[in-house]
Amino acid sequence: MVAHGIRPAYGHLVNIGGRSLATAAPATLDPVVYIAICLVSGAWAGFIGRAKGSSWFIWFVIGAVVPILGVVAALLYRFESEELRKQCPTCGKVVPLYDALCTRCGTELDFPEVAIEPEAAARAQR
Ligand SMILES: [Zn+2]
Repeated sequence: MVAHGIRPAYGHLVNIGGRSLATAAPATLDPVVYIAICLVSGAWAGFIGRAKGSSWFIWFVIGAVVPILGVVAALLYRFESEELRKQCPTCGKVVPLYDALCTRCGTELDFPEVAIEPEAAARAQR
């Protein structure tokens, strides 16, 4: 009576033990592999960031701290070098077209008749 119940239960337990051992090993991520992923992700984010006219180092850090997502952020980020620009009439600083005040001298800026082409476009023509 008792022996009939034990045999299937015992076999069931062994199967569960075998499965949990098999799945536990690949679940633990090697720290070296993780660091390698961070560095590769950082390099990609930095490369994309520099191509869009931003700082290589800043995007490398973002890509390394937030792997994969940092690269996606670099791809989606709207870089200032792609914006139209205008020049401050007081101090001559080139600022983004949407700025209402000069970031250097504080002069109120009107919407210009002729905008300066984006930095990225100017670089591509050279
Ligand atoms: Zn100014």
